[in-house]
Amino acid sequence: MMNTVTASIDIDALQHNFAVVRRHAPQSKIIAVLKANAYGHGLLPVAHALAQADAYAVARVEEALVLRANAITKPILVLGGFFSAEALPLLAKHELQTTLHTWEQLALLEQASLPAPIKVWLKLDTGMNRLGLRAEELPAFIERLSHCRNVVQPFHLMTHFSQSDEQDTQATQLQIEEFNRLSAHLPGERAMANSAGILAWPASRSDWIRP
Ligand SMILES: *Cc1c(COP(=O)(O)O)cnc(C)c1O
Repeated sequence: MMNTVTASIDIDALQHNFAVVRRHAPQSKIIAVLKANAYGHGLLPVAHALAQADAYAVARVEEALVLRANAITKPILVLGGFFSAEALPLLAKHELQTTLHTWEQLALLEQASLPAPIKVWLKLDTGMNRLGLRAEELPAFIERLSHCRNVVQPFHLMTHFSQSDEQDTQATQLQIEEFNRLSAHLPGERAMANSAGILAWPASRSDWIRP
């Protein structure tokens, strides 16, 4: 016997939740994360439902191109970043923003010849075994990145929490403090909180948030 599982998505509930996010972080701009087909809810329907977002984020360039092909002109951040030189002209052409956290990516950016510079979010490892640039690598990396003509200056800064849904550990508080320490003297905009961060960790509601 087979069971059929159906998920019904309530657009009103989605929009209600978006309003809750706004209320929690009225000073922050919202990047609505639509990765993995909007968590299985449908990339385009959810993008349209969350038209009040300041930006969208997806995991891969292909998802971003689907949004652009459907006349969505909002800023789009590609969370998964890029892996090849060929991806860069595509990012520039479609005005896609990207995360950045390896020396290989930096070299590709330096060597590219692009029609326009790209907005990048430098991803900092704030100590929780997530992808990101480590503190000791930062000064040399920043020196090169801030002189890269293919990057919109000043570049932005982000980190990602590993346990923000757990309120009984100090892990997130320590990540917030480390992020603030590492980014203190940099001029770019900041993005820290995921959904649980927004709800439970007020200090993580930075310039941008990523529910
Ligand atoms: C998935 C993801 C988010 C959203 O995370 P939730 O825990 O689902 O709110 C935010 N930022 C990044 C970098 C992500 O990969």
